[in-house]
Amino acid sequence: MSSNTPVVDYNLAIIGSGIAGLAAARAAEAKGLSVKIFDKGRRIGGRAATRRAHGFTFTHGAQFLTARADEFQDVCAAAVVDGALTNWQIGDKAAFIGRPTMRDFAVFLGRDLDISQSVEITSIEAADNHLNFHTAEGVVASANRAILTPPAPQTAALLHQIAPTLATIAGGASYAPCWTAMFGFDEAPPLPVSLEPLQFDEGPIALANYEAHRPGSDRANFALTIQASGEWSSRHLEDASEQTGRTLLFELSSLLGVKMPTPIYEGCHRWRYAKVIEPATPTSKLTSECGRIAIGGDWVIGPRIEAAFLSGLEAFKQLSEAAELD
Ligand SMILES: Cc1cc2nc3c(=O)[nH]c(=O)nc-3n(C[C@H](O)[C@H](O)[C@H](O)COP(=O)(O)OP(=O)(O)OC[C@H]3O[C@@H](n4cnc5c(N)ncnc54)[C@H](O)[C@@H]3O)c2cc1C
Repeated sequence: MSSNTPVVDYNLAIIGSGIAGLAAARAAEAKGLSVKIFDKGRRIGGRAATRRAHGFTFTHGAQFLTARADEFQDVCAAAVVDGALTNWQIGDKAAFIGRPTMRDFAVFLGRDLDISQSVEITSIEAADNHLNFHTAEGVVASANRAILTPPAPQTAALLHQIAPTLATIAGGASYAPCWTAMFGFDEAPPLPVSLEPLQFDEGPIALANYEAHRPGSDRANFALTIQASGEWSSRHLEDASEQTGRTLLFELSSLLGVKMPTPIYEGCHRWRYAKVIEPATPTSKLTSECGRIAIGGDWVIGPRIEAAFLSGLEAFKQLSEAAELD
């Protein structure tokens, strides 16, 4: 190497430690590449999320996952053997749930990967033969290649300058938001004894999940998670969170005809980009003209954890095919 050749930190940098980013990173590491993942969130997993608060545990993002494709079935089977996933029969659906929490599935996928949480990439700059990744504080790392997996609008914002074709693809995806309310009680609330989440086809509430009923859950986790429908969440997107949570608890009590005890913990989270409505369905490649950048994320395929996983594999596959990996 000449003394003028810049030293590049990693073969591949991945933005996002959600399921798509983790899938891409595992595939790249299996090929012997040096990989770094940056994520702006405090914890691994993105929307495969768990909140712990006041001694309660809430599944406040994805509730369960299903596996159809062989590649994903294999990973889920390995996670079951490891104890990071467990089976959950939901109606006629053979599903899985993270164990003991949803985020533990992401932790399983991310084992031994080099991940920095709480690092928000604000821009990517093309240098001679590599890419520089910037945060608000300055350059944080360099890499030969990048895979971006944030939700489509956030991916588009990062790519407008450096890969406009990919930014346009990302612009084709749309989402429904989801308000998620969480309540902790000091006694079991009077909910129907159901080992499945309660799901509603219409009205303000899409799903309610009494956490103590989940497989593998602590029976004393008197915690209730309520997810509003996409339509209701869109109409109430800018409402104050405290009032939104209380409205959802009131709506659920009315629907079930029960009186809830007063919660000792209340929280509410607004997922602005929760569930993909229209995937981007790209007709062109997922790689940039220069062959150094690829895109992944559930929004490339559809609104599910499995789609996110497969999109990460596909992004890495296309990146490998676009140019020889250095
Ligand atoms: C309320 C809710 C319920 C759901 N229910 C289900 C369900 O029951 N079953 C199911 O299969 N799916 C469900 N989903 C969908 C599922 O969670 C997603 O499809 C999947 O988790 C998406 O993974 P991803 O890696 O594509 O994106 P994400 O999980 O969103 O990961 C993207 C990551 O990028 C990071 N990021 C963004 N911008 C930057 C930046 N500039 N710098 C650094 N990091 C950045 C984010 O912090 C995030 O961690 C649900 C989603 C929600 C929100």
